[in-house]
Amino acid sequence: HRRLADLAPVTTDSLLALIALCNADPRTDKIDVGVGVYRDGEGSTPILNVVKDAERKLFETQETKSYLGMNGDARFTELLRPILLGEHAGDRAIQGLQTPGGCGALVLAFKLIKAANPDARVLVGTPTWPNHIPIIRGVGLEIVEYPYYDRDGCAIQFDAMLAALRSARSGDVALLHACCHNPTGADLSEQQWDQVVDAVVERGLLPMVDIAYQGLGRGLDEDAYGLRKLIANCDEVLAAQSCDKNFGVYRDRVGSLWIKTAAEESSTTAMKTVMQLAREMWSMPPDHGAAAVRIVLDDPATAAAWREELAGMRDRINSLRARFAAADPRLAFIADQYGMFSMLPLSKDQVLELREKHAIYMADSGRFNVVGMSDAAVDRFVSAVSTVLA
Ligand code: PMP
Repeated sequence: HRRLADLAPVTTDSLLALIALCNADPRTDKIDVGVGVYRDGEGSTPILNVVKDAERKLFETQETKSYLGMNGDARFTELLRPILLGEHAGDRAIQGLQTPGGCGALVLAFKLIKAANPDARVLVGTPTWPNHIPIIRGVGLEIVEYPYYDRDGCAIQFDAMLAALRSARSGDVALLHACCHNPTGADLSEQQWDQVVDAVVERGLLPMVDIAYQGLGRGLDEDAYGLRKLIANCDEVLAAQSCDKNFGVYRDRVGSLWIKTAAEESSTTAMKTVMQLAREMWSMPPDHGAAAVRIVLDDPATAAAWREELAGMRDRINSLRARFAAADPRLAFIADQYGMFSMLPLSKDQVLELREKHAIYMADSGRFNVVGMSDAAVDRFVSAVSTVLA
């Protein structure tokens, strides 16, 4: 028989390998734009003030750590409802549950799809967040790629995307990024969303929306435009949500899964199904981060303070984008994109040159975290990129 020692070697996530390389680099002016975390003007990733205060309150007032249900903190989910769903918040055919981050929500959503329709294929834009692929494969669903973004042309391949959606099979799943597309930063305009929604409805596709950066692009409501439009027009919609970026609680693993079906009763059945699926994996999500988010959102004053801190992060992202665009006309496209990432049209050798000559660490794909550096490092970053592009 085969033993544990017979396992095939794992091809490591190249981004994690990059972090290790960067950590080992002794140069003091190194710039790490590989990992996807927000950094402030000083180059650090601080805990939001509202979160720190909520954690203090949690520490002082929490009286038990006894089990919650498989759906986690129900009040947390209830408070997220209006932020995510906007005008659809009152629709009880849409139900949500807490998950271990956006990843947990994605795994649950695809497992639910697999349980309902094992032959469904998942239409995935190219490129997409690299972890989507193993998550979908791990669940045993087939992947069909559709063109999304032409890196060297710095543009969304919208016609090709639309044609692919229109020629999909009824019942296929359309995986869509709500906002702040990872890895490209290239978001659909509202007009493009309207066309995507039409195609999804026409073809009878199941939309599966990944919303991991709400509020970090154009604004909380603007970033949910596509999701809400899908909800308004489709009987069935799934959304995998994450608070890890917009509350800065990455390691605390805070997210939620949202399910809309045609009626409250079938949504309840779907909810019970995902709760059983969750029971088989993690039983219930970790409490701490979601409890802190719940405390923030449960008081109008702290909820408003969170919106301000979030706006501060968003403004910094967008002002850095404007700075890159102004510094070199070849980087102008960055100002029209949103969220933490954009992709530079660099060859692998150019990415390596940035690493070796300039101590700038980014993924081989040319994806870089636009908010990964301190204010003081911006000029050096832009001049190194311009030199390498020349
Ligand atoms: N979806 C996308 C597009 C992401 O970029 C990420 C995080 N990098 C996630 C989902 C998962 O987020 P979480 O850390 O909450 O699991």
